[in-house]
Amino acid sequence: MPLNPAICAPYVGRFAPSPSGPLHFGSLVAALGSFLQARSRGGRWLVRIEDLDPPREMAGAASLILQALEAYGLEWDGEVVYQSWRHDRYDEIIARLYRDGDLYWCRCTRREIAARGGLYNGHCRELGLAPQGCAARIRQRHPVYGFQDGLLGTIQVAPALAEEDFIIRRRDGLYAYNLAVVVDDMDAGITEIVRGADLLEPTVRQIALYQALGAEVPAWVHLPLAVLGDGNKLSKQNHAPALCLDEVRPTLIQALRFLGQQPPETLAACPIHEIIAWAIAHWRLSRVPKTPQPAPGT
Ligand code: GLU
Ligand code: ZN
Repeated sequence: MPLNPAICAPYVGRFAPSPSGPLHFGSLVAALGSFLQARSRGGRWLVRIEDLDPPREMAGAASLILQALEAYGLEWDGEVVYQSWRHDRYDEIIARLYRDGDLYWCRCTRREIAARGGLYNGHCRELGLAPQGCAARIRQRHPVYGFQDGLLGTIQVAPALAEEDFIIRRRDGLYAYNLAVVVDDMDAGITEIVRGADLLEPTVRQIALYQALGAEVPAWVHLPLAVLGDGNKLSKQNHAPALCLDEVRPTLIQALRFLGQQPPETLAACPIHEIIAWAIAHWRLSRVPKTPQPAPGT
């Protein structure tokens, strides 16, 4: 009898930080949650540096992030992948989408799109423009309006957002996050994507891309964001403090509590690898809160 591949496929998860700054508490939570979800299922856990947008990157951030993962006991499998090495692959996928009629070239400026109301209205869809000086847009033939999240349940997005022909390569030549993330996760055989809830909305676009590429769509889990006292997301933009790498254990315990796990008081005195072993053995996704949570100390 053939085996059901959905049941037998080995779990592969990943953490995919952008090197715009060092790891902060919010990104630690995403790393830890995706790590625990993978390791508790005996799965692989990969790390990819999303260095797609050089102007937004900070020199040295990628190695600071990797050092922090090591300090927190989050050991990854295989080699770290850098998106900056993969431009040829993205071009290959763009050529394929174009050939299949899933992509067109658009010369509209941001200002023109704003003047037409903000969402892209398909202005260049039938113009047959050449790539020079243009952005690449997905021709949405089968928009995706929602999906099942493994933590949050049914997620639906605004139809106009779901239907928009979104950009996968900008006019200035930079590859869009939505393209690179799908191509990389597809090529790495990621079976479940666990990341922060700030990425709920782009998920429908990513699913539409998997489908245009004829690839199997992974499962999704979006973890609660760490917010400041004012409700704003903890992020590099609002100068979230870098994680301290000398006092790792209390922060690791705080991150476990943030994710709704219930480590015993005595665990904080144990070596990192014991804290991690406890966390893998006791990981319960069902305990993770579904709403934003205050970051400790804010
Ligand atoms: N690179 C993205 C970020 O740091 C995360 C991408 C993802 O997990 O899909 O926000
Ligand atoms: Zn256009």
